[in-house]
Amino acid sequence: MPHPLRSVAVFCGSQSGTSPAHAAAARALGAGLAAEGLALVYGGGGVGLMGAVAQAALAAGGAVHGIIPSFLLRAERPPPGGLTSLEEVPSMHIRKTRMFEMADAFIALSGGLGTLDELVEIITWRQLGLHDKPVLLLDIEGWAQPFVALVQAMTQQGFVYGAGRQLFQVAPGVEDALALLRAAAPSNQALASQAARL
Ligand code: AMP
Repeated sequence: MPHPLRSVAVFCGSQSGTSPAHAAAARALGAGLAAEGLALVYGGGGVGLMGAVAQAALAAGGAVHGIIPSFLLRAERPPPGGLTSLEEVPSMHIRKTRMFEMADAFIALSGGLGTLDELVEIITWRQLGLHDKPVLLLDIEGWAQPFVALVQAMTQQGFVYGAGRQLFQVAPGVEDALALLRAAAPSNQALASQAARL
């Protein structure tokens, strides 16, 4: 059966973190997406976990599309071997918009404040009904737990619309995340964006 999705955006750190488990998960995720025939959409950098996931996907024969603001080209240095495509954009906001348009699903792998910003925006856009593409958090070394607890607390205190926790899923490992993607029903918007790309 063909995979229900075509492309997945990965939000992750421009640093590698203190535990080697994060980079190992990034490499497994890049290779896993490629093995599933899923194109990787990401921030275009060659540093930290961003570089690890991209290089693993490329090494496994996958397609990798990077979107990077001009002012970050020096700091986040795209991988020297090149990507399937690298789009240079004028701002962070356009980067996020392009990643949103190009992806049928989103995975937050471990990262810092930039990763959090990208994750929260994509979840709030889902809360607003702007899309219904799957959003997954990978919980490597408990990275996702404080965020899950915060959303639960905000929900209990009446600040989240609907069942906030249902806006995203948490995967304990890369294989679980890949299985959740396989089970994902393509949304109408994902189907429309696939059709537009054909
Ligand atoms: P970090 O998790 O802080 O290492 O950042 C991960 C990625 O998110 C990097 O490519 C950052 O450039 C990017 N980033 C940081 N802040 C923003 C933002 N406001 N909008 C879009 N991307 C961002």
